[in-house]
Amino acid sequence: MQHYDVIVIGAGAAGLMCAIEAGKRGRKVLVLDNGKRVGRKILMSGGGRCNFTNMYTSPDNFLSHNRHYCKSALSRYTQWDFLALVQQHQIPYHEKTLGQLFCDNSAKDIVQMLVTEAKAAGVEIALQQHIQQVTKTDAGFIVETPAVNRACTSLVVASGGLSLPNLGATAFGFQLAEQFGLNVLPLRAALVPVTWQPADKAIFEEISGVSLPVTAEANGTVFPEDMLFTHRGLSGPAILQVSSYWQPGDDIEVNLSPETDIHAFLTSQQQSHPEQELKTALAKLLPKRLVEKLLEMQIISNQPLKALNSKSSQTIANRLHGYIFKPNGTEGYRTAEVTLGGVDTNDLSSKTMAAKEQDNLYFIGEVVDVTGWLGGYNFQWAWASGWVAGQYC
Ligand SMILES: Cc1cc2nc3c(=O)[nH]c(=O)nc-3n(C[C@H](O)[C@H](O)[C@H](O)COP(=O)(O)OP(=O)(O)OC[C@H]3O[C@@H](n4cnc5c(N)ncnc54)[C@H](O)[C@@H]3O)c2cc1C
Repeated sequence: MQHYDVIVIGAGAAGLMCAIEAGKRGRKVLVLDNGKRVGRKILMSGGGRCNFTNMYTSPDNFLSHNRHYCKSALSRYTQWDFLALVQQHQIPYHEKTLGQLFCDNSAKDIVQMLVTEAKAAGVEIALQQHIQQVTKTDAGFIVETPAVNRACTSLVVASGGLSLPNLGATAFGFQLAEQFGLNVLPLRAALVPVTWQPADKAIFEEISGVSLPVTAEANGTVFPEDMLFTHRGLSGPAILQVSSYWQPGDDIEVNLSPETDIHAFLTSQQQSHPEQELKTALAKLLPKRLVEKLLEMQIISNQPLKALNSKSSQTIANRLHGYIFKPNGTEGYRTAEVTLGGVDTNDLSSKTMAAKEQDNLYFIGEVVDVTGWLGGYNFQWAWASGWVAGQYC
């Protein structure tokens, strides 16, 4: 039987970072992955340019049943540490918006950087490995695949979440956690488009492709970004962000004109252009096709501006500043960027990422109940939790 100091399951962001760090400490490390290539999610992330971190990362950008758990790892391996690595490898990058750092060329640069670092640290990587069983021994763990059984002292689970099953996502990490007595908190697709109720679909699918800056709110959390109408529902960064806070049955409240007070705007338009129609005035603020839909749905009724009184102008403003969508559901793991929930952080050490009640078993990255906002935060959690586990495993 082959023996390793550390076996890492999952050659994604967290697993590779952990393997590199453990390898640098002189540990004999093997990374096992079920796919044909390493870092598949990195390759397709950020539209192929990988939003690899966020300059403003703080624990406030993460959801978890224990909001304090991520603090230690995020402070020990920061966005600046990862950026220093990117700069050391001379990977060109830029800030797109809101502190989000992307590769100038391709996400392949990040995967190549990790592979180069892993090689330098003596890490072995075995792909297309289908793990059948993991068992505990006095000395550590045995990981069984059809071809070979391997033993290790430390086992690191970095097998990610459930999103994009066609990209190799499996429930393996959650099942392994349960096998070893760790609690797994309920899982849910997040950073995911929401879908229309049938009645809304009939109306809004015709304006699929229309996008506008909004603020979107679910359960008290508000995000100011763009919203996109699609054939199936609503998407765009504002909606992906609030989807993490939305629960089935909840509303999403959208301010369709966050920058301009509609009542004040209509009042001033009324003074300067009294004969102008309401739809013409509103089309100066909102996409014309959306205004037409709002008329069709009788959310607003067209009339010359001079016919509006202050009360009716305020009513229109209230409807557009607080438009209520009631999603039918989400598009689910098929298109979600991440999985909410996962291995309960109460069963893990925030200092080492190790299971509290099971020696030498570590959980890192998305498999853990720590989920970032859209904007490079999920990778920063993967790098930070992987780096930390790499110091101890
Ligand atoms: C389309 C898309 C775009 C995204 N863009 C961004 C972005 O720009 N910025 C950002 O911060 N986050 C982004 N994310 C989220 C980010 O990709 C994940 O949070 C991050 O990859 C999690 O890292 P991880 O190492 O925990 O898991 P993963 O990167 O998912 O790696 C897990 C690995 O484990 C392997 N595996 C799974 N099951 C098994 C098994 N049974 N046996 C062996 N191997 C197994 C998988 O094949 C995979 O290689 C995006 C996600 C998606 C889906």
